[in-house]
Amino acid sequence: MIENYDYIVIGAGIAGLHIGALLSQHGKVLVLEKAKEIGGRARVVDINGFKLDFGPHPVRFGPISALGASLNEINKSIDFIKPGTSWAFLDDGTKTIFPSGGIMAVLKSKLVPTIKTLKFMIKIKKMSVRDFEKLYDLSLLQWFDQENIVPSLQKFLIMASSAIQVNPFPDRSSAGELLHNFSRVLELGSVYYPKGGWTTIFNAFLNKIKDNGGEIRLNEDVSKIIVEDSTAIGVFTNDKLIHGKTIISTIPIQQLFTILDETLCEKKIIEKCKSLRPTAGVSIDFCLSKSISDINGIIFFDNPLAFGFIPSNLSPEVAPKGKSLMTFFTAANLEDIKDKNTMKEIHQRLRDTILRFFPDLEQYLLHERPLFLEMVDGVEVNIEQHKFKRPGNVIKGIKKLYITGDSVGGSGAGGDIGHESVRNVYKMIRNQNY
Ligand SMILES: Cc1cc2nc3c(=O)[nH]c(=O)nc-3n(C[C@H](O)[C@H](O)[C@H](O)COP(=O)(O)OP(=O)(O)OC[C@H]3O[C@@H](n4cnc5c(N)ncnc54)[C@H](O)[C@@H]3O)c2cc1C
Repeated sequence: MIENYDYIVIGAGIAGLHIGALLSQHGKVLVLEKAKEIGGRARVVDINGFKLDFGPHPVRFGPISALGASLNEINKSIDFIKPGTSWAFLDDGTKTIFPSGGIMAVLKSKLVPTIKTLKFMIKIKKMSVRDFEKLYDLSLLQWFDQENIVPSLQKFLIMASSAIQVNPFPDRSSAGELLHNFSRVLELGSVYYPKGGWTTIFNAFLNKIKDNGGEIRLNEDVSKIIVEDSTAIGVFTNDKLIHGKTIISTIPIQQLFTILDETLCEKKIIEKCKSLRPTAGVSIDFCLSKSISDINGIIFFDNPLAFGFIPSNLSPEVAPKGKSLMTFFTAANLEDIKDKNTMKEIHQRLRDTILRFFPDLEQYLLHERPLFLEMVDGVEVNIEQHKFKRPGNVIKGIKKLYITGDSVGGSGAGGDIGHESVRNVYKMIRNQNY
């Protein structure tokens, strides 16, 4: 007998579970995941009681993010912890406050020129959405030139681009999107960390799906989305057909055409999806037998451009009692991550820099996990693929098929795009009064 569902969600990463939880309030949901565990690029691994997120994984805007809004709506809100002061560790060996937290941080920081930075912040606070959008096609470098931005402020903005947009490349990072994101940070505050780590977020969505009678199946590789008369009607998984009234794919859109017949779509769209550039980089997690730093904010480095934090200083539950978990990340070009030698160099440079500023780390090291990541965020926010140039949430000519996740729709960067994209799709489906 062929199974029937109201909603079939392909992928149990954060986007799949997020949309699955929202839709489970309105019909029978089936989430299909090809891996043996949930989580995708945000999966959590337990190593001897250390709960390792997939590299540094704070949530921008926490309770007031798109993710926070959905958790609230499904009555599964969680505690988000606000980090303390952020620090920049500089190549000259000094440490200073990282000025992301508004006026006081700017006044105290050695990283930026006080007056010029305050003027810059006032200027972007006054800018409208339309003003930012006009700069979406402009690279940071072009904007620096246009606005005569002094080198020290340039350096700070490149560090911000590296962290906010996982894009340390000023020749292609979109100035408009960065300034827009930056203005949101000034307005709404910066990142938060979920109490208990990302397991808490996944559990909230999983429980909602299960409470509402939905199902999540692991080891279920969707091989094809079935389309009849220009309408998606189901999927093939492990050679079994499952019918769905609405199909939602959350796999990175670069991979969509491994499961969707290319002859159904315009060549232009297929090319755009396949060639979308993701962000890439290297992360290192360190599990330590004791805490070596009480920093509870974000840690930035200027050479190489990198950032990280100490999750166990924010939420002690993520490490065994008295022990410590540290996590760091540096963004890189995809091509460099694919090249074994360059990748090793990037890893070594990051590791050396961390050890330079945290020399006790090796003495208390219990476990170290490097990750070499060809896809961090599904889409790099750059002038060729800013918000208005990215693929949207539907494929022209195919009804009842929605595409979501962090490679389509949405504004911001990385998870922001993913969560906003999920909420867009949810609204689109609900507006059909399905
Ligand atoms: C090191 C690192 C740090 C990050 N830091 C942050 C951060 O601080 N803040 C933030 O917001 N974002 C961050 N991100 C980005 C964030 O992790 C991603 O935006 C998010 O995890 C993407 O989720 P997704 O569900 O859209 O896609 P994915 O996680 O890629 O999920 C897609 C799922 O689909 C499954 N799948 C694929 N093909 C099939 C198929 N044919 N059949 C069935 N299942 C299939 C995959 O196995 C996967 O589980 C970070 C990412 C990394 C790697």
